[in-house]
Amino acid sequence: MVVSFLHTEKVVNMPKNPILYIGGPGYSYENFAPMIDQVSDHFDEILKLLKINSPDGKQVQIKLFVEVATPETIRAYAVRVSKNPNVYEIRMTAGLSYHLWLASRALASDVQYLNWINKIKILDPKQKKRGRKELLADYAYYLASYLILLHEISHVVLGHCDYVQDEMGFSALDEFEDEKKVLTDKEIRIRRAFEAEADRQAGEFLTGFFESSLGDRGLGTHIQFPSRKHVYEFYTYGVTLVFVLLQQLTQRKGAIHPKPNERQYIVVSALSKYFEKYKPEQLRLIHDHAVLTMIKAAKKTGLIEGSDPIKVMQNAISLAFVDDVVKETNIREYQLILS
Ligand SMILES: [Zn+2]
Repeated sequence: MVVSFLHTEKVVNMPKNPILYIGGPGYSYENFAPMIDQVSDHFDEILKLLKINSPDGKQVQIKLFVEVATPETIRAYAVRVSKNPNVYEIRMTAGLSYHLWLASRALASDVQYLNWINKIKILDPKQKKRGRKELLADYAYYLASYLILLHEISHVVLGHCDYVQDEMGFSALDEFEDEKKVLTDKEIRIRRAFEAEADRQAGEFLTGFFESSLGDRGLGTHIQFPSRKHVYEFYTYGVTLVFVLLQQLTQRKGAIHPKPNERQYIVVSALSKYFEKYKPEQLRLIHDHAVLTMIKAAKKTGLIEGSDPIKVMQNAISLAFVDDVVKETNIREYQLILS
C-alpha cells in the first residue's frame, strides 16, 4: 500500500453543495466534558500496557494529556520532552475535543448521512431511550478522538519527533500551527511526508481499535449494525467528519499537512493494512466499499476535492512520494519498538 499526496498549491473553488458547518447551536461544553475523561482513561490504560523501547533498547515513556480545562484552545501536538531518559508528551486541548464532538453530532442531526440507521439494533436495554442517532454520534466522537490521539502516538513511535528535533531543529509536531520560520522545500517535503505517514499509521491503528470494539461477529456490542459493509460505512463517515472539521478550522491553509481530502483518503484507505494482516478474506469487500463511501461522504459533507473520483485516484498514485521520503530520511532507524 503506497501513500502520498498531491504536491500542488492551487486555488480551490468551493464546491457547489453546501459545506457542513460544524458549530452546534444548543450544544454546550458542559453536555460533553465528561466524555473526555473516558477517552483519556482508555488511552492511559493502553499506554500502560504497551512496552515501548527506543532503537537502542531503552524504555520510553509517553505522557498523555487529554485536557478538560482548555475549552477555548484548539491544539494537538507531540513532542519529545527529554532525550535521556526518553520521554514524549502528547497533548490534546479540550477545545479540540469539543469541536470533534460537535463534528460527530452531524450524525445525530436531521440530515440523513446514513439512510439505514433504522436498521441498527440497540443491544443495550439501558441505551434504548437515547435512540440510534445519538448512540451513533457518540461512537463517531470516540472514533474522532482516537484518530487524533493515534495520529500523535504515531508521530512518536514512527520516530518523527526525534527526527524533527535532532536532524531538523524543530521543537514539536504541531497539528494546527505551521512553523514560525520559513521552511525550505526539502523541509516541507519531509514534514508533509511525516504527516501523511502518521495518518496512515493512525488509520491502521484506528481500524484495530474499531474492530476490537465490534465484538466477535464484528457488528457491534452496544449497537448492532446490519452488516459489515454498514459498519465501515459508518466508520468512513466518522473519519470524514474529522477532516471536514479540520478543513473548517484550517481553511485548507498550511504547508505541512496534506489537504483534508488527502488525509481522509490516507486514513480510510489505511484500513487495508489492518485487513491484509488480520482479516484478509474481508479485505476487498471492506476496502472497495469504504473507498466508494469515502467519495459519497465527501460530497455529502462538503469535503473539498474529496468527491471527484479522478482526484481521489491521483491522490492514491502520488502518495508513493511518502515512501521515498521514508527511505531518504532513514526514518525507520528512529522508529521506536513496540512490544
Ligand atoms: Zn501530525
